[in-house]
Amino acid sequence: MQRYDVLIAGGSFVGLTLAIALASSARGALRIAVVDRTPLESARDRVNDGRASALSAASTHLFHSLGIWQSVAKSAQPITGIDITDSQMNSLVRPSLLHFDGDLAEGEPAAHMLENHVLRDALISKAGETAGLKFLAPESVVDFEVHANGVSAQLEHGGTIEASLLVAADGRKSAMRKRAGIKTIGWSYPQAGIVATLGLEKSHGGRAIQHFLPKGPFAILPLPENRVSLVWTEERARAREIVAMEDAKFLAEAKKRMGARFGDLTLEGPRAAFPLDMHLARAFVADRVALVGDAAHGVHPLAGQGLNIGLRDVAALTEVIVEAVRIGLDPGSATVLQRYERWRRFDSAFSGLSMDALNRLFTNDNAPLRAIRSLGLGLVDRAPALKRFFVREAAGLTGTVPKLLKGEAL
Ligand SMILES: Cc1cc2nc3c(=O)[nH]c(=O)nc-3n(C[C@H](O)[C@H](O)[C@H](O)COP(=O)(O)OP(=O)(O)OC[C@H]3O[C@@H](n4cnc5c(N)ncnc54)[C@H](O)[C@@H]3O)c2cc1C
Repeated sequence: MQRYDVLIAGGSFVGLTLAIALASSARGALRIAVVDRTPLESARDRVNDGRASALSAASTHLFHSLGIWQSVAKSAQPITGIDITDSQMNSLVRPSLLHFDGDLAEGEPAAHMLENHVLRDALISKAGETAGLKFLAPESVVDFEVHANGVSAQLEHGGTIEASLLVAADGRKSAMRKRAGIKTIGWSYPQAGIVATLGLEKSHGGRAIQHFLPKGPFAILPLPENRVSLVWTEERARAREIVAMEDAKFLAEAKKRMGARFGDLTLEGPRAAFPLDMHLARAFVADRVALVGDAAHGVHPLAGQGLNIGLRDVAALTEVIVEAVRIGLDPGSATVLQRYERWRRFDSAFSGLSMDALNRLFTNDNAPLRAIRSLGLGLVDRAPALKRFFVREAAGLTGTVPKLLKGEAL
C-alpha cells in the first residue's frame, strides 16, 4: 500500500498538468500520484493522436508558469487572426463575415496552435523531473472506497493507493465519475469531427478560418511549416466514409471546402474521426472526489475550447488546494471541494451551452436564418469594443481567472 495526498486517475493533458501544478506549487508540501492506463511509448506517438489544439493565452500562461511552455514554444504557431464565413461551398468569392486580429491588447497572441503529441511529450518529460510526483503508466485505477480520512484506490496490476483526495481526470467516459455516483446531463451530436494535417502550397499567414457549412463547421487552423490542422464536422456516417477514402479523393474533398486559395494540398499525417457530444457532470465533486477536464464536461470543438476549459479546472483546483494546505486544511476536505465546485461548475455549463447554441445556429441552411446571422455577425464586425471582448473571452481572460492562468505564482 502506498500513501499520497492526491491521487489523479488519468494522466493525459488535464491529469498530468494538474499533477505538475500541484507538486510544484505546493513546494514539497504535497505528495502526488498520477496513474494512466496508456503505455508511455504509445502516449508519445503522434500516430495515436494526430490532433492539434488551439491553446488560449490563459493556457499558455499556465504552461509557462509550470516551465512547460518554454520547451514547446518553438513548435507552436501563433494565431494572427480569425476569419469567420458561412458562404456556400460552390461560391467563387467567400467573403468573411467577421474577422478578428489575433493579438490581445498587451500585444501577445490570444491563442496558439500546438500539436497534441508535442504537448503530451513535454508533459510526460516534465512529470518525470518534478519532485513529489509519481507517474504510474501503464496502470489503471479499477475501483475505490471512500473512508473517513480519504480514499483507498485499487490498481489493475495489484496494490492499493491511499490518498486524501481522488481526482478523476479519466476523460469523457469517466469510470471514476460513475463510481462516485455522479450523473451527467448532455446529448450526442449527430456529427463527428474529422481531423487531418495538411501541407499547403500557399502561405496560411497564421490566420485561422472557421467556415460554417450546413453539415457543421469546417475549421482550418494554422500550424508551423505552412501546415494546417483541419477540424471538419460532418454527419457521422459520412465522416466515416470520408476518413476511409483513399488519399487523393480525401484531398479533393478537402479542397472543395478550402477553395483554391491555398494551392496544392498534401497529407501530412494520420486522419481520424471523433464522435462529438456535449456533457456536463451534475456535480463536480463528491465525498473525497473531484472531477476535472472531460470527466467533468465536454463541449463541441467548434471554438477549440475543451482542453482550455479543463486547464481552467486545473488552475482553480490547484489554487484552492494549495491555499488550503498552507493553513493546515486537508486537501480532500468538503470546504476545499465546495470552493472548487462553486468556482468551476457554472463557468463550464455556460461554455458548453454557448458552443451548443453556436453549433445549432450555424449548422443549417435556412435562408431567413442565414440572413439574420449574417446581419448579426456584420454588426459585431463593426463594433470594436465587442470584438475586443470576444478576443479576451477566447484568450480565457474573462471572469474570475485563477492566478496560474494570469501567469502569477501561487
Ligand atoms: C476533434 C477535436 C478537436 C479538439 N480541439 C480542441 C482545441 O483546439 N482546443 C481545446 O482546448 N480542446 C480541443 N478539443 C478537446 C480536447 O481534446 C479535450 O477536452 C481534452 O483532450 C481532454 O483532456 P482530458 O485530459 O480531460 O481527457 P483525455 O484526453 O480523454 O484523457 C483521459 C485519460 O485518462 C486515462 N484513463 C481513463 N480511464 C482510466 C483509469 N481508470 N485509470 C487510469 N487512467 C485512465 C486515459 O488513458 C486517458 O489518457 C478537441 C476535441 C476533439 C474531439
